[in-house]
Amino acid sequence: MEFPFLEKEDPELFAAIAGEEKRQAEGLELIPSENYVSRAVKEAMASSLTNKYSEGYPGKRYYGGQEFTDQVETLAILRAKKLFGAAYANVQPLGGANANIAMYMALLSPGDTVLGMDLSHGGHLTHGHPVTYLTKIFNFVRYGMKNIETGEIDYDDMRRAAKEARPKIILAGFSAYPRELDYGAFVDIAREVGAISVMDIAHIAGLIAGKAAKNPFDFGFDLMTTTTHKTLRGPRGGMILTRESEEIAKRVDKAVFPGLQGGPHMHQIAAKAVAFGEALHPSFVRYAKQIVANTKAMERVFKEEGVRMIAGGSDNHLILLDAWTSFGIGGAEAESLLDRAGITLNKNMIANDTRKPIDPSGIRFGTPALTTRGFREAESAQIAHLMCEVLAKKKDATTAKEEVKTLALAHPIPESFA
Ligand SMILES: *Cc1c(COP(=O)(O)O)cnc(C)c1O
Repeated sequence: MEFPFLEKEDPELFAAIAGEEKRQAEGLELIPSENYVSRAVKEAMASSLTNKYSEGYPGKRYYGGQEFTDQVETLAILRAKKLFGAAYANVQPLGGANANIAMYMALLSPGDTVLGMDLSHGGHLTHGHPVTYLTKIFNFVRYGMKNIETGEIDYDDMRRAAKEARPKIILAGFSAYPRELDYGAFVDIAREVGAISVMDIAHIAGLIAGKAAKNPFDFGFDLMTTTTHKTLRGPRGGMILTRESEEIAKRVDKAVFPGLQGGPHMHQIAAKAVAFGEALHPSFVRYAKQIVANTKAMERVFKEEGVRMIAGGSDNHLILLDAWTSFGIGGAEAESLLDRAGITLNKNMIANDTRKPIDPSGIRFGTPALTTRGFREAESAQIAHLMCEVLAKKKDATTAKEEVKTLALAHPIPESFA
């Protein structure tokens, strides 16, 4: 992307951005929560909508001059509802964390209990990690995997915990879990104990929109929270979707504004509308299915090479690999070796990890960004092989980096995404 004014007026800042543009073009991005957005999305983000204050919701604002902002937000809402089969959508949350905080505020009183996925089994910080302020306000109890080699969730333990703790919310969703959940079981347990069922689809929203993963609303989930910038391939932001209940949707709207946030970032909302429009296009179904096919191609290589994957493999866009057991190196060293080879991913705790968060046993990676670049099964398998060679120290990082660069240059970021 060109930045003619920035280049002239602020060369120092321009240089940093130009460096990042080059890094993204030349390296291979395997962080499963990252992606490349389209030029159309970027254009919306760069628009003059950033100049406007629009506190409130379409038709009910606290400032004048809302003729066009109302059109923008209404389009985003309509497209979001269509994409996920929701009756209501709030597109104002500034990020996934904000969406979750607003959801808690909408549904809970201080001291209430949430039953969520154990963080070391794949849950997210905002699902009740002790370092968040959320744990000073609400009470979080946990469920996890019964079998780490297959990824099967312990639904019996979840039911027992739900009956004992009487949570107001049963929260599904994850940042580092590679399997489909049994959504029916979540909804059944929530109904048995009178809890509201919420799925945080932040990581897999694009797979759901592209019909490469099941939609929790089809199983009766009450609410979904999400980010818009991961597999969904939109701008950085969040969203809250309500399947059916007008009463819940009203509480959500009040919690987002004025409960938690100030003026909505209308340029981001416009970019969300653009991304949702792209995701409604039939080509997005091909994209989402290719993400999963590419993960499967990587999984096959790791299986052949006898690499230990948490949950035994993957049904979605990400793989969690046990570097310590498989290669005798910690996650931090694995991350840094691959980084030097031009492959970007992150170290990650694995279930029952014997090592510390700063240098855990695992690494986490995925295929959404590579798939946007046009990588298919053959190239994905090639990267998996290369990763094994680097991690086993059979190939040094400099040699690997040449190969990575060749692969990256052969699959430039498509013009409409550059
Ligand atoms: C990424 C993520 C979030 C937080 O999103 P931010 O935009 O970084 O605030 C919340 N929940 C889950 C499950 C996530 O993966």
